[in-house]
Amino acid sequence: MLARNRLVVGGLWLLVIASLSLHAQGPPAGRAVDWDKLRAETLERYRALVQIDSTSGHETLVVDYLKKVLEAEGIPTKTFALNPNRANLVARLKGSGTKRPLLILAHTDVVGVQREKWPVDPFGAVMKDGYIWGRGSKDDKPVLVANLMTLLTLKRQGVPLDRDVIFLAESGEEADLEGVGINFMVREHFDEIDAEFAMTEGGGADIENGRVVRVNVGTAEKVPARVRLVAAGTAGHGSVPRLDNALIHLGAAVEKVGLWETPMRLNETTRTYFEKLAAISPPDRASIYKALLDPKTADGAQKFLREHAPGQYSMLRTSVVPTILKAGVGANVIPSEAEATLDIRALPDENIDAFYTELAKVIGDSAVKVERLPQTRPASPASKLGTEMYQAMERASKAIYPGATVIPSMSTGASDMAQLRAKGIQSYGVGPASTEADQTNYPAHGDVERLAESSLYPFVQYVWNVVTEVAARK
Ligand SMILES: [Zn+2]
Repeated sequence: MLARNRLVVGGLWLLVIASLSLHAQGPPAGRAVDWDKLRAETLERYRALVQIDSTSGHETLVVDYLKKVLEAEGIPTKTFALNPNRANLVARLKGSGTKRPLLILAHTDVVGVQREKWPVDPFGAVMKDGYIWGRGSKDDKPVLVANLMTLLTLKRQGVPLDRDVIFLAESGEEADLEGVGINFMVREHFDEIDAEFAMTEGGGADIENGRVVRVNVGTAEKVPARVRLVAAGTAGHGSVPRLDNALIHLGAAVEKVGLWETPMRLNETTRTYFEKLAAISPPDRASIYKALLDPKTADGAQKFLREHAPGQYSMLRTSVVPTILKAGVGANVIPSEAEATLDIRALPDENIDAFYTELAKVIGDSAVKVERLPQTRPASPASKLGTEMYQAMERASKAIYPGATVIPSMSTGASDMAQLRAKGIQSYGVGPASTEADQTNYPAHGDVERLAESSLYPFVQYVWNVVTEVAARK
């Protein structure tokens, strides 16, 4: 199957070159890119980036590398660091200013490794079985290298731009208690990264039978809005049952909120997501997705997803998931307090105050108080599907992954796009293609990470296509 992947992608490569040179008749001749030559350099730089152990706290190592590469090509860089070991780097190619800037960003940090779980050196960027293996090989160094190669190529070709193209390599996406990355850049240096559109991790593409069939564009994400439930009662001896036992009250509250079916609501992204999936799924699944879109039949479809596709069920609503219980000091002691943490993930347009009021009503017990936990991400509106940027992404998909369906998606998790969307930047998530088996067995943050070499080059071209479509002079 792998051999087939490579063959098909190799074929695509030719197609892409053909379509690029066709394109070159209209736009500046500078845009015809020698991708064969660029493949070797892409691989070299990608491997160099994976070989840097940039586990959170060591991001400046990547910044040093990028600075050297960019400045050797005459692209000036600026670094911004709240913590000297965790710097951020910005490089800007100036456009005519007739349109607002485009920001392409990627995080430089990676999560830690347990070396004994790896069959190869996790920072070796070892090439084996058609894959490049290493921590960060998926998350997030493909996006970083695609952005880097795009910037270098724009500069080398002297592509005239209508928009500034801003390259941001940011620290602290994976772990950031100090706020050294996107929070620091948005708070202290927003003018350096302010843009109409942004593109970063948060999407991807799916390979089936050796072909890319779906290109997922991240356009929205849920908003973490966690709370703690605190139940109070009378402390006492474990041999004496009491009706106001805090554990009993907390237990009942956790059960109620954990089983609560919060109202279902679709937005532009999720409606389009289910419509598109309905059009390309096998008949039994397609009928579920279609049923979701009709209020008369949505209930049954939701029930099915709740059992069989919890991730999609979560996309339909603000979700409430109990994650921590804390109570008790001894088997013979009734504690006066018991608490539970609820991981609440709100729909982007949720009225969160009203939601908490509703939550308290569902609990319906004055012995249980709802306390808000500090918010980790700002509320962020979904990015729109009709924008020049989204359309460029659709066109790039068509060129690089012919026949694939573009699907906007709302992440149930949270990303650095939240901070950008909260500032009004229409932000879109991208990523290289992978098979379902690779997504399951070698996920981002998994014990072992790897990326098919055959997925790397088309992804770089995809990013290049989107950036030139949106930012180059027409
Ligand atoms: Zn990431």
